[in-house]
Amino acid sequence: MPVPEFFDQGDLVAVLSTQPLGRALDYKAPEGGCHLGAFVEVPLGPRKVLGVVWGRGAGDFDYNKVRSVIRVLDVAPMRDEMRAFLTRAAAYTLTPMPAMLRLGTRAPGLGDPPSMRKVYRRGTGEPDRTTKARTQVLETLKEYGDLSFTLKELAEMAGVTSSVVKGLVKQGVVFEEDSPRDLPFPRLDPELPSKELTADQAAGAAVLAEAVASEQYGTTLLRGVTGSGKTEVYLEAVAAALRAGRQALVLLPEIALTEQFLTRVQERFGAKPAEWHSGATMTERRRIWRMVGQGQAQLVIGARSSLFLPFQNLGLIVVDEEHDTSYKQEEGVFYNARDMAVLRASICGAHVVLASATPSLESWANVEAGKYRRLELTSRFGPAVMPKMGAIDMRGEGLPSDRWVSPTLVGEVNKRLEKGEQAMLFINRRGYAPITLCRACGHQIGCDDCDARMVEHRYLKRLVCHQCGETKPMPEACPSCEAEDRLAPVGPGVERLGEEARALWPKARIAVLSSDMYGSARALKAEIAGIAEGGADIVIGTQLVAKGHNFPNLTLVGVIDADLGLMGSDLRAAERTFQLMRQVAGRAGRAEAPGAALLQTYQPDHPVIRAILAGDEEAFWGAEAKERQQAGVPPYGRMAGIILSGPDVAQVFDAGNLLARQDRALRAVGAEVFGPAPAPIARVRGRHRVRLLVKADKSVPLQEALARWVAQVKLKGDLRLAVDIDPQSFY
Ligand code: ADP
Ligand code: ZN
Repeated sequence: MPVPEFFDQGDLVAVLSTQPLGRALDYKAPEGGCHLGAFVEVPLGPRKVLGVVWGRGAGDFDYNKVRSVIRVLDVAPMRDEMRAFLTRAAAYTLTPMPAMLRLGTRAPGLGDPPSMRKVYRRGTGEPDRTTKARTQVLETLKEYGDLSFTLKELAEMAGVTSSVVKGLVKQGVVFEEDSPRDLPFPRLDPELPSKELTADQAAGAAVLAEAVASEQYGTTLLRGVTGSGKTEVYLEAVAAALRAGRQALVLLPEIALTEQFLTRVQERFGAKPAEWHSGATMTERRRIWRMVGQGQAQLVIGARSSLFLPFQNLGLIVVDEEHDTSYKQEEGVFYNARDMAVLRASICGAHVVLASATPSLESWANVEAGKYRRLELTSRFGPAVMPKMGAIDMRGEGLPSDRWVSPTLVGEVNKRLEKGEQAMLFINRRGYAPITLCRACGHQIGCDDCDARMVEHRYLKRLVCHQCGETKPMPEACPSCEAEDRLAPVGPGVERLGEEARALWPKARIAVLSSDMYGSARALKAEIAGIAEGGADIVIGTQLVAKGHNFPNLTLVGVIDADLGLMGSDLRAAERTFQLMRQVAGRAGRAEAPGAALLQTYQPDHPVIRAILAGDEEAFWGAEAKERQQAGVPPYGRMAGIILSGPDVAQVFDAGNLLARQDRALRAVGAEVFGPAPAPIARVRGRHRVRLLVKADKSVPLQEALARWVAQVKLKGDLRLAVDIDPQSFY
């Protein structure tokens, strides 16, 4: 029996709620009936909860005892394709449906009626007396007459106090009226002129535009060195979607959501897109969520969770910096936004563009397998060329143990400073020093709740655990032997490097960029914009400067510790190091002045370092692919991680051992289980953590087997089990 599109009053409907229940529950459709997919409020015990009409009721309860839906919310019903997406994403990631639905309803006040606010327009009257301030208000209204300002916005735009505006309201010169708070986003105009594209770019843009116009699912890997104009090219794909009357979503790593980027979009389409990120206010989120659902937001620029917005007619998803690890969410629901973007697009007939200068091996392999198309932008735009790469062999630099900038690098920075150019020193470590050591007893200060060292952050004047975020003041005496004044920082962090740089270049303007040093994303964005405009001579930064920022005057990047990433046992260590170094190097020489990137390394002959220096990416990918193929690991094999955690170490291990022993469901499909082993960070926030790793052939239907297998563990007490399909990190 097909599920009807509409249920009449009293019909049984299955409502999926965000509450952790085993299944959707039956309710009676309310007075007036309800649509399939309707957002509803239903009673659950003594409470009212949010839910979605997921289908026909199961009808296995006494009809007379089934309760009624309380009300249907005033928002567009969830579309079939969204329900299909959530269902398939849940099946792939082995996430319970309620948790999946929570991702799809992350907007506050969904059930509230649209609230109103006061807006101000030009009225008919004339002021009794003209003042400079009043004239400014009138001119602002004249110039931007079609916008509806709030009191604060109008006063700000006019550069007057709000009492001036209120005075004009009294005289009828300005009208005050009520308007719904959730306003549609301004129309974007795809017909505005784009930049004049190079032949390379234009060819790429045409291919993408055609793919989008076909309204068929497909994925294109857009590969091009940093600065080759990938953004310009995919904005043309966005234009094609808008022309077709469809919506577009551009996913960016959270940190790359910059003013710079939004301004570029605004320049291309004449208005600002919707911007979805962790710093968005509740009001903004609600507005975006509703407008996206009504088709009144044509373009969303967002962090990974924007993938779960209720698009009405999605025609394009761009995943910029597709290799970026921040697309993988590793708490709550474990998912990779890049992969889920492909899933979502395949359901709604949208095109996917994966853009990167250094694609993930997964995407590279999907191209090789013929699943994705590949587009190349081979040269940098305009006169800019790829930076020259070089190594500084640290074995010959004779640096004292508490200094990190080699004499060779100092000399190179000096040359840039003399020419009035910018230099960047990169180190991928936050804080002042990774280790605080007692020189009297050898004790290293660790976190009370995690198996991790605490990292000194001088800027915050505290020790910080990078696992759980716990902080404590820097003690005066060693917590172990109580010796005073013997605690010493060991190793460099970005703040300490800043200190060294200030000593080396006392006259230079030095900016230290680390995510934890700025109170807000906005403050950080402002700082970055200032640097791009020449507000610093030397930029010192962590990973966040490697991502997508444009510093036109930067001509030298010095990587302080190129070996850092090579030491882990992570299967992607080589790939990560390769990508990060290429990205960082790509910061240099974006405008007219040619750039150089210098890697300080103690292993200049390491194969990865050599591949980075040679800039031979195909060779690197080829070699890396071969190794992974031989080892049968992703992307040539399948993996899943199981993380068991709980306050009692014995209980956690017992559960792990039980799983390892009772692996019949896995063996049946030829999958193997490894572990249990203490997770590399064996205790986080006071919870002991044990990992198991499952490996299988690429062709194996792993999820079903995993589901049957993990169901054997009864999650008693505070024991928790998380399944991580395609794990990225092994912490
Ligand atoms: P990518 O995304 O590959 O790093 P961008 O699209 O950011 O490259 O381009 C790098 C810089 O070059 C940007 O400042 C961009 O505006 C500029 N640029 C790229 N292509 C063109 C073009 N055809 N005309 C004018 N400026 C361009
Ligand atoms: Zn901790």
